[in-house]
Amino acid sequence: MIYLDHAASTPIADSVLQEMMPYLKENYGNPSSIHRFGRLATKAIESARKRVAELVGASPGEILFTSGGTESNNTAIHGIMNQNKSRQLITTSIEHDAILEPCKKLESFGFDVVYLPVDSTGLVDLQKLESTISEKTALVSIMLANNEVGTIQPIVEIAKICKKHHVLLHTDAVQAVGKIPVNVKELGVDLMSISSHKINGPKGIGALYIRTGVTLDPFVLGGGQENGMRSGTENVANIVGFGKACQLAKENLDENSKSLENLRNYLVQRVSSEISHVTVNGNKDKLPNNAHFTFLGVNGEDLIIKLDEHGVAASTGSACSVKTQKASHVLLAMGFSHEQITGSLRLSLGISNTKSEIDQTVDSLKVIVAELRSVSPFKAKYGF
Ligand SMILES: *Cc1c(COP(=O)(O)O)cnc(C)c1O
Repeated sequence: MIYLDHAASTPIADSVLQEMMPYLKENYGNPSSIHRFGRLATKAIESARKRVAELVGASPGEILFTSGGTESNNTAIHGIMNQNKSRQLITTSIEHDAILEPCKKLESFGFDVVYLPVDSTGLVDLQKLESTISEKTALVSIMLANNEVGTIQPIVEIAKICKKHHVLLHTDAVQAVGKIPVNVKELGVDLMSISSHKINGPKGIGALYIRTGVTLDPFVLGGGQENGMRSGTENVANIVGFGKACQLAKENLDENSKSLENLRNYLVQRVSSEISHVTVNGNKDKLPNNAHFTFLGVNGEDLIIKLDEHGVAASTGSACSVKTQKASHVLLAMGFSHEQITGSLRLSLGISNTKSEIDQTVDSLKVIVAELRSVSPFKAKYGF
């Protein structure tokens, strides 16, 4: 199989699994215990926290471990807005469901939530942001990089606008971390979500960066772990694995980013020159591992099933919305027609993909697209 769905999840790196194993077996102590088993677990957690902090330019005390990107987003949104009843949250119409769903919940509680529009490349309108911010605004949440089309938002500019108006800024950086440089101080964000399984770490672990001085209402109450911010016995093995994945991501960022971009550019160049009636989506400044296409006259889901038969794992977009059969809210917000949305395909590359895998994928795509178009209802319209 050729795996081209790294925006959905990635394989655990060997060295990550290796570091986790002792904490799944002999080092099983509870970090809250005073004996040496407990101290060993605490030490492992704190060294992982340091690695996570180092990857994003934070200090360890600013890193809260969570169960992943989804929980980090929920913690940030509810944690801030709970302290700001009757105030406003500004976000965008292209966020991950892990932002949009908590926002909908806030609206049901009577909060004012504004969803900023984006242009056809998925970029947020900064003037619109500035004209929307008011005394009422408590929090702005805008993703760093989009999970479907890979568009990178100008967070530095956005942070300047938020600072000027004394409004907190949260960013969902789950897709960006490990692909582009992500430094909380350089970005100027107050809160930032990251996830382990998108960077070759285990699933079910992530972190929320909380800038020193920012306070949140805790979400999960109990034994007071994580400084009282998230109770429950720590997932030590996952935390250790996440720490190792962050260390690898930091060490190899430049090299990974360059090789992913080269491979992606090769893929895009072959597809756009060898297949007709195809558009390449997203902005110029996008994630180095994301390729997003629209093949006119083709149904993306048929494409994915056929690709799977050819041994290629791909996606139409976000893993979460495929099962609910909803048209992509990201592409709708970018102004795509239903026909364009239907023909969309996301190929997201990972560090283990090779040029020959890309060649095989493009060769399969050419055959499959031609096959699907030969029976397409749009055959006459486009003259396939
Ligand atoms: C995957 C993803 C999430 C969810 O992270 P989990 O760790 O799977 O909960 C949130 N936001 C974005 C942009 C993602 O790609």
